[in-house]
Amino acid sequence: MPEPLIDLRTLSKTYHNGDIETLVLRGLNLTIDSGEFVALMGPSGSGKSTLMHILSFLDRPTSGTYLYRGRDVTGLTNDERAALRLSDIGFVFQAFHLLPKLTVLENVMLPLVYAGLPVADRKLRASEALGRVGLHERLDYLPNQLSGGQKQRVAIARALINDPSVIFADEPTGNLDSVSSEQVLGILADLHKDGRTIVMVTHEQEAASIAKRIIRMKDGVISG
Ligand code: ADP
Repeated sequence: MPEPLIDLRTLSKTYHNGDIETLVLRGLNLTIDSGEFVALMGPSGSGKSTLMHILSFLDRPTSGTYLYRGRDVTGLTNDERAALRLSDIGFVFQAFHLLPKLTVLENVMLPLVYAGLPVADRKLRASEALGRVGLHERLDYLPNQLSGGQKQRVAIARALINDPSVIFADEPTGNLDSVSSEQVLGILADLHKDGRTIVMVTHEQEAASIAKRIIRMKDGVISG
């Protein structure tokens, strides 16, 4: 059996604010294999965002172990986690998070600045990524000239630009009409078919139904 891509062992997270301690994740055990498409569901406050932040190296657990590709990443420094995010992770957010003064092409090129690529190569890769999401004719538009669905497709192109192993999508269809939602879910399904690992937080049954596994959280534990 190949080792899982993600392997959490009795992972817990406690937030400390002054004297107040909030135990948010309570001893999670979870594995996600390379190439899986999982939906993370659960009521507000159940710990989904906290778990996503830890899985995507934005935050650290308080106790327990996180193995990524078999490597213990629990105690990595901020810089080491930033490097892993850059090489391995793509993010898609409910609110798109595009920079309003940059064009579509420039938004998608942005992550490559940190990878140190020459500008011509950045442009080529960004326009290819935009072609994949059906937006090759919108390269010079500004985000506010696009529909919500188009903005989310730009965000997906940006998430793909570093060829990440895992895409974390946080309510990717939460701000979209049903036609745009279907398009965005179709793109995520295609990425999964291409072998990409996708972890998607969603409240929507329709979105969850395209995932191959649903992880349900309640009060900081996985309930199913
Ligand atoms: P979900 O994404 O399922 O809505 P979250 O992971 O955002 O859940 O939050 C889980 C719990 O952790 C909530 O009770 C929330 O108030 C608490 N929480 C989240 N972030 C912090 C923080 N930075 N400091 C203190 N408590 C937090």
